[in-house]
Amino acid sequence: MTRAAAERLSHDPIPMSSPDLTQAERDAVAEVLGGAWLSRGSQIQAFEQAIAGYVGARFAVGVSSGTAGLHLAVRACEIQDGDWVLTTPYSFVASANVILYERATPIFVDVDPATGNLDPGATAEAVRDLTAGGASAEHWLPKQGWRRGGRLKAILAVDVFAQPADYDALAPLARDGGLYLIEDSCEALGSTYKGRSAGTLGDIGVFAFYPNKQITTGEGGIVVTDREDWAQMVRSLRNQGRAPGDRWLEHTHLGYNYRLDELSAALGRVQMERVEDLIAKRERVAANYAERLKGIPGVETIPVSDSTTRLSWFVYVVRLDRELDRGIIIERLAARGVPSRPYFNPIHLQAYFQERFGYREGDFPVAEALGRSSLALPFSGIMTESQVGRVCDALEEVLGSL
Ligand SMILES: *Cc1c(COP(=O)(O)O)cnc(C)c1O
Repeated sequence: MTRAAAERLSHDPIPMSSPDLTQAERDAVAEVLGGAWLSRGSQIQAFEQAIAGYVGARFAVGVSSGTAGLHLAVRACEIQDGDWVLTTPYSFVASANVILYERATPIFVDVDPATGNLDPGATAEAVRDLTAGGASAEHWLPKQGWRRGGRLKAILAVDVFAQPADYDALAPLARDGGLYLIEDSCEALGSTYKGRSAGTLGDIGVFAFYPNKQITTGEGGIVVTDREDWAQMVRSLRNQGRAPGDRWLEHTHLGYNYRLDELSAALGRVQMERVEDLIAKRERVAANYAERLKGIPGVETIPVSDSTTRLSWFVYVVRLDRELDRGIIIERLAARGVPSRPYFNPIHLQAYFQERFGYREGDFPVAEALGRSSLALPFSGIMTESQVGRVCDALEEVLGSL
């Protein structure tokens, strides 16, 4: 039996995701361990330069997670108690949590049914109504949990599943409305929008490096911007609010420990040397999936919009026919050694969002419909063709058994 055939027959579980690491990463981390600087050394600087150069941003500031980066982006924009921020309910919960950290109010706008990204038409209406205030503004606000006298301050867009939101529509809305545009590009390192790099399409962008992302540092993230004052502020806030010129144990601002250590940065630096290869491998696996899924009824792949000139593939998500029972499909796939995940339970339906703002099922029907029908299949750049085959065979078998 060939190895591929053996693998096909085997019921070894297939991991949901896997980092793609080589000896070069291990050597780089070991080298840091052999030296004196485990934090605030040369690795973080090299990593920041690599990211800035790759995406074409003037500044990049490494932080301890994508969430930390988003929080600092919100702080850089001076979003405060009572401010309003327009954002998407169809995302990983961190993109809205960072607004809550500053006691501002996330105001959700429903998403485009094709891409799952912020719907630019609805966003335009929301900006118009919220700027006008009064009764028309209340249509967009949650039932409870916000303060009168709030002011719309920013749009926080998410490049969901690595596909950039529609920035040629969103950027003018932000500019004309005097709003900041924050780009949560935590799933999109390497994607491009009309040839421009994800992460650089708003005023400030954030990438994340958890092990299932395009590159990993273990835990980690980075903030990118062209604004020097913001880069400086983010540098200060990640380091307990120490500003340039502050002496040891002097802290100009209320800051955090959001630093990225040297071990993580060294890992990220080597991953960035391999980034083109890492993304090319993800593209190959995704193409393989698309080919294999074509003939399976009840399963659709997510459309890639014309404005997405490169998709760096964060996860591989399919949409199931609305009649199908996703819970049973997940169970039966698991019994065949194939993990899968429902992506995403929309943010407004998370327990604390419901409790605090009074959100209910039906408030954002497009996000909810996508949330009910989407299924992430195992995915990484190191998946073999036969593993993709096993996943697709299992899916076909399970759907046939319903
Ligand atoms: C991964 C991710 C983040 C940040 O995640 P961390 O685990 O904090 O690094 C933020 N937003 C989105 C949409 C993400 O997918």
